[in-house]
Amino acid sequence: MKKHNFYAGPSILPEFTKQKTAEAAVDFAGTGLSVMEVSHRSKEFVAVMDEAVALVKELLKVPEGYSVLFLQGGASLSFLMAPYNLMKSKAAYLVTGSWASKAMKEAKYFGEVVEVASSKDKNFNYIPKAFEVPADADYLHITTNNTIFGTEIKTDLDVPVPMIADMSSDIFSRPIDVAKYDMIYAGAQKNLGPSGATLVIIKDEALDKTGRTIPTMLDFQTHIKNDSMFNTPSTIAVYACLQTLIWLKDKGGVEAMEKINIEKADLLYAELDRNKLFVPTVPAAEDRSRMNVTFVMAEGYEALEKEFNEFATSKGMIGLKGHRSVGGFRASIYNAMPVESVQALIDVMAEFEANH
Ligand SMILES: *Cc1c(COP(=O)(O)O)cnc(C)c1O
Repeated sequence: MKKHNFYAGPSILPEFTKQKTAEAAVDFAGTGLSVMEVSHRSKEFVAVMDEAVALVKELLKVPEGYSVLFLQGGASLSFLMAPYNLMKSKAAYLVTGSWASKAMKEAKYFGEVVEVASSKDKNFNYIPKAFEVPADADYLHITTNNTIFGTEIKTDLDVPVPMIADMSSDIFSRPIDVAKYDMIYAGAQKNLGPSGATLVIIKDEALDKTGRTIPTMLDFQTHIKNDSMFNTPSTIAVYACLQTLIWLKDKGGVEAMEKINIEKADLLYAELDRNKLFVPTVPAAEDRSRMNVTFVMAEGYEALEKEFNEFATSKGMIGLKGHRSVGGFRASIYNAMPVESVQALIDVMAEFEANH
């Protein structure tokens, strides 16, 4: 039976990425060696890193004056590296979920942190709109897609200070105006590749302004000067990321991907609004994530939760269980998820409804 992978992360990858990476795991670039056993300084691997960086710049139209890095430590290490490198004394944070809260916690080591707004009062089921960003803040930190709670900021905000964005779970899902950001970061394991690589896009000019001494590995300039090879990168993870970038370009880039993502999300939310057994956890359509669709059993049908989970699993739907802080279900429908799998889930939901 075909498996439909709805896991939130690590999560679905394009068939192309898996095939190419599987091949390179045995024979990389005609070397007769695995991509896991060649030097990261070999000309073959340096070419992989260079091409991955170039494709990130091309696909996201990264302007001059930005560096693209493939690091390790996940988005979680970027929570710390962002303020360490970019916060002089005051930073603003928009708290839209658990990851945003974790990011804000790290900034508190470096100065005054202003929480401009939080949606914690409603278990993060909306994106706060009316908030003021202090004009003297060094940056506003946002989490564009809230993987756990199913909300998303789908446009590049207009604020009086540069932004830093955690785009772990929606990078490459739509075009972005990189010039509005001093830094963008993303753990690879949602929309790009396997875990083990972290993509960082950083404005060179924003660095070296804090007056702070930064330990070597935590200093972005170390990684910029060494082309992401100060320490040994996860070669197979970067290789897999490159394959996804090649696949994405072939699909028509982020502009084409956004269209497909809107189509998939619209299909699934329409079913949730129609089907009497389920309700989406995010009431406002404009706040609903295109990447992580969260839903629970409708009032009066709560007792069917376990049964639906088993029914869906029996039909090949994998990873639908919601995060423990929301409950219910979460369908993660990242770039690599085909429309057919979303339709298959909708069919299962409709069949379950008909059975009850
Ligand atoms: C998954 C996720 C993280 C955590 O990523 P790690 O790579 O495990 O550190 C952070 N932020 C968001 C938005 C995520 O989805």
